[in-house]
Amino acid sequence: MTLTPQLLEVLRTHIAGRVVGADDPAWDLERGAWHLLADQRPAAVVHVTGADDIAATIRFARRHELAVSAQPVGHGASPAVNGTILLRTGGLTAIDVDIASGVVRVEAGVRWRDLNDALTGTGLTSLPGSSGDTTVVGYTLGGGLSWFGRKYGQAANTVRSFELVNARGDFQRVTHESDPELFWALRGGGGEFGIIVAMELELRLAPEIQGGRMLWSIEHARDVLRAFADVTATAPDELTLWAWLLNLPDVPFVPEPLRGRWVAAVDSTFLGSEEDSEKLLAPLRAVAEPIADTVARVPLSELGSIAQEPDEPVPGLLKTVLLSGFDSDAIDSLLEVAAPGTPSPLFAFEVRHFGGALARPDASQGVAGVIEEPYFLLFGGFVAGPGMAEVIEAAIEGVEAKMSPWITGHNTPNFSTTEPLTALYSADSLARLGAIKHRVDPHATIRGNRPIA
Ligand SMILES: Cc1cc2nc3c(=O)[nH]c(=O)nc-3n(C[C@H](O)[C@H](O)[C@H](O)COP(=O)(O)OP(=O)(O)OC[C@H]3O[C@@H](n4cnc5c(N)ncnc54)[C@H](O)[C@@H]3O)c2cc1C
Repeated sequence: MTLTPQLLEVLRTHIAGRVVGADDPAWDLERGAWHLLADQRPAAVVHVTGADDIAATIRFARRHELAVSAQPVGHGASPAVNGTILLRTGGLTAIDVDIASGVVRVEAGVRWRDLNDALTGTGLTSLPGSSGDTTVVGYTLGGGLSWFGRKYGQAANTVRSFELVNARGDFQRVTHESDPELFWALRGGGGEFGIIVAMELELRLAPEIQGGRMLWSIEHARDVLRAFADVTATAPDELTLWAWLLNLPDVPFVPEPLRGRWVAAVDSTFLGSEEDSEKLLAPLRAVAEPIADTVARVPLSELGSIAQEPDEPVPGLLKTVLLSGFDSDAIDSLLEVAAPGTPSPLFAFEVRHFGGALARPDASQGVAGVIEEPYFLLFGGFVAGPGMAEVIEAAIEGVEAKMSPWITGHNTPNFSTTEPLTALYSADSLARLGAIKHRVDPHATIRGNRPIA
């Protein structure tokens, strides 16, 4: 059914929060996502004030054969929100930390930077990723690949309970005991199974964290990547390294000495002492004197600044792939498409080291499961003007072709863009997710960014 202006007025009578329709002067802003290229076309936007607004919108949608979706920020924007009533959950920001039991309850709009701030100094952590700007809920529903994932696994596997509004519009607390199948699906299956109001997460130990970025001029790229491959081959689970080749734009926000230059970088975190971190990073520092080296003890509140990702919305086109390895042939291939002299519209190539607990199966895990591949490659560019999207897409295809001997074809839900679900889940998992979706939401009233059915 279509959401007519008359029906929108009816919806407004049920909702305490702001309900915005396509006739609103700020509609283009309201319908937009962090991904500026996502031209989202929802039927309406509802800024929810709590579970009651969510429940009222779902009941309304059901009555009028409409669908709802949730999008707090939009790092994971997809065309699936088109035609839905889009629930903006960003206003639900309560955080309750219980140090004694090692559990935190976060509402649906809490961002990683706020949770990291709340846990700073406690010696405990949740499992944050590179960006402080994403919500804990949006990230965790897609698995959650953290700085600390090698030590503690995917964030989804630390969830103790979900508080959600289900497709009937009823409030429900979902735990392993209350509904093991649904609990399994929610931990990596995305926003398809209910609109989350809050979540309880088990915290993990992190009494001391070292972290930062080492940066070299690009002529050292091959040696830096080789040292990265060597160190990661034997790294303890406490150490996480992400290597970068960066094609820094000639724009004012890049510091003058680096503006318009290619550089190589390695970002790291280490759950342990400064002394042990120094020993582990020594082979990288031995390659050449870094231009900059910020690795030091970091409070949890500073974690989001290590990878220096933009918080502001950006017109970026990104692609990620999982790699079966990162040997010297892979390094040489990467450097053929990511180096000065190669006129590339792509600005970043990032190789993350996975493995450790991310690759260790455990029967209690959700559908996020394990990631067998030891490395992940992210690359992309900014669409700075008309015609750029095609140029960047062609460059992305070029990188994929070059790296194809190492690309396994699997992907991770959180970083997937256009990949089919079969790249994200096994056939068994997909069938199980489909059956759960059919049971809990037979009319497909709730739509995540990666629809299951
Ligand atoms: C710069 C950048 C860095 C990133 N780094 C990492 C990283 O290190 N590790 C990692 O794992 N991922 C990473 N990601 C991916 C990111 O975690 C996902 O895109 C995630 O979905 C974004 O969270 P968000 O808060 O922006 O969610 P949104 O994009 O706003 O929402 C994404 C989806 O989550 C679901 N959802 C969100 N809230 C609710 C709710 N309350 N109820 C039901 N469903 C809901 C919906 O299906 C929604 O479409 C990164 C992305 C970017 C752009």
